[in-house]
Amino acid sequence: MNQYDQFIQDAEKKTFDLEHRRKINFNINKYNTAVENVSSQFVDHDFGRQRAAYLKTQVIENLDKYLIEFEQKFLRNGGKIIWARTKEEALAELKVIFKEKKARAAVKSKTMTAEEIQLTDFMEQFGIETTETDMGEYIVQLAGQKPDHMVTPAMHFSKKDISNLFHKKLDTPQTDDISELANIARRVLREKYLEADIAVTGANFLVADIGGIAITENEGNVRLGTTFPKTHIAIVGIEKLIPTMDDLALFWPMLAHSGTGQELTAYNTILTGPRKPTEPDGPDEMYLVLLDNGRTKLLQDAEKRQALNCIRCGACLNVCPVYKNIGGHSYGSTYNGPIGAVITPHYEGMEKFKHLSFASTLCGACTSVCPVKIDLHNLLLLNRQQSVEEGYSPGSEKRGYKLWKMAMLKRSYMNLLGKGLKNFFLGYMFGEGWGKRRELPKVAPKSFYELWKEKEKANK
Ligand code: SF4
Repeated sequence: MNQYDQFIQDAEKKTFDLEHRRKINFNINKYNTAVENVSSQFVDHDFGRQRAAYLKTQVIENLDKYLIEFEQKFLRNGGKIIWARTKEEALAELKVIFKEKKARAAVKSKTMTAEEIQLTDFMEQFGIETTETDMGEYIVQLAGQKPDHMVTPAMHFSKKDISNLFHKKLDTPQTDDISELANIARRVLREKYLEADIAVTGANFLVADIGGIAITENEGNVRLGTTFPKTHIAIVGIEKLIPTMDDLALFWPMLAHSGTGQELTAYNTILTGPRKPTEPDGPDEMYLVLLDNGRTKLLQDAEKRQALNCIRCGACLNVCPVYKNIGGHSYGSTYNGPIGAVITPHYEGMEKFKHLSFASTLCGACTSVCPVKIDLHNLLLLNRQQSVEEGYSPGSEKRGYKLWKMAMLKRSYMNLLGKGLKNFFLGYMFGEGWGKRRELPKVAPKSFYELWKEKEKANK
């Protein structure tokens, strides 16, 4: 089954799964209340959004300069950098490290970029046991699933689902006490931190002026994960740069507000390379994989490159009427929701993922909440335009528009067809896109032209 057919099948299934919708909406409503409660921390939130958009645009427009500045500082701090143009290049380099370290176990903390390169499956091929340490990620890993949301990966699980899962997989007693569920995960994970040779993380920001990575989280697992293992590997997209440490004063609260409805996330960590001789803990080596994987392709496009400004807060998912009905898994991509629909065709191929840009009502709710003011709904339109220009429209649509154009340019052609044939052609051209659950509008029994002629005749 191709990606499009799979998407239609999965989206339809999820849309009619009322229990799934109830869970997603329950969690999104909690998020909405939290965001509302902390909104007052900004004197002028929109001004903050403008500033954040300006800073990210500056970085993206001068990415070459900032990347080199970052690299120099990070190397000076004792870190090692791996430049990876593709996911295959990233995995090939990581394989060398895994072999050299004779790695047997790894702990991983929320990194969408590792999902993007399918790192866990790759590590398992080498017999490296990889454990997700973020609670949400751990739940989806235990369930054998992928994250459903970029910030809250287990958005589609209720407390009962989690209790059932733990009972089945970890043989723990059923409970609906959320702290007990967290304690169960904590007990399992603490052991894993001690056993791991390697810590894998992502990063929310690459801070150019200090050559460090900034990570924000609520459970402290990144701190634990990067304390015990001897090797830390961070996998980060090249677009995650911000110019200076001072900019974190804006980006951290903006991200916490839009991402989880907090004034500030509980743990905010800046890592500048491996453990220094005077430091008691931390990794002996720190590698940073700077991943391109389609980002420079997007950078070449002056209109669409603003999508690289994304700070992965997930706010656009939470307001999207499509995401709220079909959930994250239906997208079939690492990044889902509006931003996923915008960037995935550029990262994974327009032909394969163009349909995601059409799965939108273009209501603009995503654009209205984006903390870095990405014009998401218009970028979706530009993707649609690109996919048509690159010839990816279905044959029936192309033929349909050809006929439509002919008829529209010559009234006599239009008059050749009666109501029945016009309805047939409308169905032929738009039936599939319109969907089987909506009835296409019907052409009136008599056209305006015919009515006018009849009126003229009657008046004579
Ligand atoms: S596009 Fe904007 S709203 Fe969506 S995840 Fe990125 S920063 Fe957040």
